[in-house]
Amino acid sequence: MSMYNFNSGPSILPDEVLQQASEGVLNFNNIGLSILEIGHRSDWFVEVMEEARSLVKELMQLDDSYEVLYLHGGATTQFMQVPINLLDENETAAYCDNGIWGSKAIKEAKLFGNVHIACSSKDQNHTYIPKELSVPQHVNYLHYTTNNTVEGTQWHFIPQANVPLIADMSSDIFSREISFSEFSLIYAGAQKNAGAAGVTIVVIKKDILGKIKRTIPSILDYRNHIEAKSLLNTPPVFAVYVSMLTLRWIKKNGGLIEMEKRANERADLFYETLDSLDAFEGKVDRQDRSLMNATFITKNPEHEKLFLDECKQNGMVGIKGHRSVGGLRVSMYNAMPINTVQALCDLMKDFSNKYADALYKTI
Ligand SMILES: *Cc1c(COP(=O)(O)O)cnc(C)c1O
Repeated sequence: MSMYNFNSGPSILPDEVLQQASEGVLNFNNIGLSILEIGHRSDWFVEVMEEARSLVKELMQLDDSYEVLYLHGGATTQFMQVPINLLDENETAAYCDNGIWGSKAIKEAKLFGNVHIACSSKDQNHTYIPKELSVPQHVNYLHYTTNNTVEGTQWHFIPQANVPLIADMSSDIFSREISFSEFSLIYAGAQKNAGAAGVTIVVIKKDILGKIKRTIPSILDYRNHIEAKSLLNTPPVFAVYVSMLTLRWIKKNGGLIEMEKRANERADLFYETLDSLDAFEGKVDRQDRSLMNATFITKNPEHEKLFLDECKQNGMVGIKGHRSVGGLRVSMYNAMPINTVQALCDLMKDFSNKYADALYKTI
C-alpha cells in the first residue's frame, strides 16, 4: 500500500491478507467460485469458520471449557448481549468507567439490571487507568475495556476481583500475550486487530451461561450460537474469511509474543519521539499509555491544522483525534511496520524544528 495508514478502525491489514482476500473474492481456493457465492453451510465455508474459531483458541491458549463465536453487530451489540445473557433484573454487575466505549457498555447494562461502578477516571477526562477497584462479591461479573481506543489509555494489568471477568478487547486483541484464561468472556469487533468490519469475536467460558431467569430472544442467546457452531443464521462470510486470514498471518509471524514485541517497538519509538519534541505533548499518564492508540496535542493549538496538512501532504492518514475528544491520535495496530512509525516521527521532528519559534512566541 502506498499510504501510511494510522486509521483507528477499520484500520490497517497486512498486505498479504489483502492479497489473499481479494483472490478469494475472485476464485476461492481455486474452486471456481467466489467466497461471496458459496453457501455458509457448505464444507468450503465451514472449514473457514472452524479454522478461524480454532485459531482464536490457539492464539489465546484456551482449553475446551471455552467456545469461540463469530457474531454480527459489532462490539456495540455486545454491550447489550452481555447483560441480556448474564444479568437478571434484580442483579448487579460491576463496570469500570474508563472511556467512551466503557460508558456505552454501562448505559446498555442498565437496561437489564443494576450497575455498580467499580472505578472511574471521569474526574480527569479518562486520561489515566485507576489502580484501585471496588467490586462487591455479589455482582455477576466485572466488565472493563482493556484498551481505550479514543482516549489512548490501556490497562497494563488484569484487574483481580474474584468474580467472572468480562472484557471488551476490541482495540488490543491479539496484540500481546496475556492470561486469557482469567476471563469468562472476551469480545472484540474484528476491524482493529483481527480482520475486517462486519464481524465480532466472542470468547465465552461456557460455565457462566444459563444462570439467569430471563427469556432471551433466540438470536441473542449465546447458547444457541454455541450449539450451532456459530452458524445459527448466515454469518458475514467475507468478514469471517478475512479474520481467519489475519489470524493465520499472526500465527505465521510468531504469534502473540512477536505481536507484543512489535507493538512495544512501535510505541517506544513513537512516545520517545513525542516526549523529545517541543511542539507536541502527550494527553494521558505515561504509565497508562496505550501501545495501540497514542493520543497527543500540539502545544500551540494553531499548529494542529498545520500539522494535519503536513501529514496529508506526506501520505499519512488517520491522525485526527476522535470527534468526541479532538486533538491528534495515531493508531499502531499489529499490521503496522516500524518504518511507518519512523516516517511519522521524522515528520514530527521536522515540524517541531520548523515551528519552534512560533511555539515560543505564543507561550
Ligand atoms: C471500535 C470499538 C468499539 C465499537 O465497535 P463496533 O464494532 O463499531 O461496534 C467498541 N469498543 C472498543 C474498545 C472499540 O475500540
